[in-house]
Amino acid sequence: MNKPLLSVIVPSFNEEKNVEPFYFALKEVLEKSNYRWEVIYIDDGSSDSTLPLLQRLSTWHPQVNYISFTRNFGKEAAIVAGFQHAKGDCVVIIDADLQHPVELIADLLTGYEEGYDQVIACRDRKGDGIIRTALSKTYYKLINKIVDVQLEDGAGDFRLLSRRAVDALLIMSEGNRFSKGLFSWIGFEQKVIYYENVSRANGESKWSISKLINYGIDGIISFNMKPLRICFYMGGFILVAALLYILVMFTQIIRTGIDVPGYFTVISAVLFLGGIQLVSLGIIGEYIGRIYNETKRRPHYLVKETNATKGKRYERVQ
Ligand code: UDP
Ligand code: MG
Repeated sequence: MNKPLLSVIVPSFNEEKNVEPFYFALKEVLEKSNYRWEVIYIDDGSSDSTLPLLQRLSTWHPQVNYISFTRNFGKEAAIVAGFQHAKGDCVVIIDADLQHPVELIADLLTGYEEGYDQVIACRDRKGDGIIRTALSKTYYKLINKIVDVQLEDGAGDFRLLSRRAVDALLIMSEGNRFSKGLFSWIGFEQKVIYYENVSRANGESKWSISKLINYGIDGIISFNMKPLRICFYMGGFILVAALLYILVMFTQIIRTGIDVPGYFTVISAVLFLGGIQLVSLGIIGEYIGRIYNETKRRPHYLVKETNATKGKRYERVQ
C-alpha cells in the first residue's frame, strides 16, 4: 500500500536566517517517519532574502514548494494558502523560527494514527515575560466566559489536521480569520500534546503589543455577538436607573421645591452617558466594519510567484 502523504505548512515572514536550518531539521525528522511528505513554504511578502533562499531550496529538493505573496498578508492568510495547496492526507502547520520543536511532529503523527482529526501541540509559558503571561492567562479566562468556542492558552497554530478537518476549514470562506476560533469551531476528535516553550532561534517576533491587543479584540468579536448584548443590557440598566432617579427627584421637588444647584449631577450624567454611548457605537462599528469587509469578498492573498499546484481538495472537486 502507498504510504500516506503529509503536507507541512510553514508561514515565513522575513525568516532568511531560519529557512535552511529549519528545513534540514524538518527533513531529518520526516525522513525517519513512515510518511511521504511535502513542505509548503509561504513567503508572506518578506523583504529580506527569504524568497531567493526558498527558490534555491526548491531546485535541489523536490519536496519543497513555495508560494510567495505580493505583500505581507499576515499569518492567517499564509495558513489559508497552505491549506489550499496541500495535497496531503494530513497537514501540519509549524512556524519557521524553530520555536515549534520539529521532533514533536512524530508525536503528532502518532496521534493521527490513533484516529484523531486534530492533534494540538500546546506550549507552556516558560521564558515569557511575567506581565505577558499574566495578561494572557486573564485574557483566556475571560474570553472563554464570553465566546461560544473553547480557546486554550498556549494552543496555537502548531498542530496536525486530518484531511477532513482541512476540508472543513476550507469551506469557511470568511475573510477575517481568527484561526484559533475556527480550529475549535470545526470540532472533531482532538488530542493535546504539551511541550516546553522554546525561544526563537533567529530574528525577531513579529508580535508587537498593539498587534496582540488587536488579536485579542478579534478573538472576542469574531465568534459571537455578546458585546452587542452587553451594550443592550447596559442601556437597559441605565434607563431603569434614570427612571428611578427621576422619580425620586420629582417627589423631592413636589415636597420641598426646586433645588437649583445641580451642576455636579448634570455634568456626571452627561459624561457618563456620553462615554457609554461612544463605547457602544465603537462596538457596533467593529461589527459593521467586519460586515463591510466581508461583503467585498476579496481574496485572502495574492500570489507573486509559486511552484506549487492546487491542493487535494480542488483535485477532487474538478
Ligand atoms: N509570520 C507570517 N506572517 C506575518 C507574521 C509572522 O507568516 O505577518 C510567520 C513567521 O515567519 C513565523 C510564524 O508566523 O514563522 C510566527 O511568527 P512569530 O515568530 O513572529 O510569532 P510568535 O512566535 O512570536 O508568536
Ligand atoms: Mg515565533
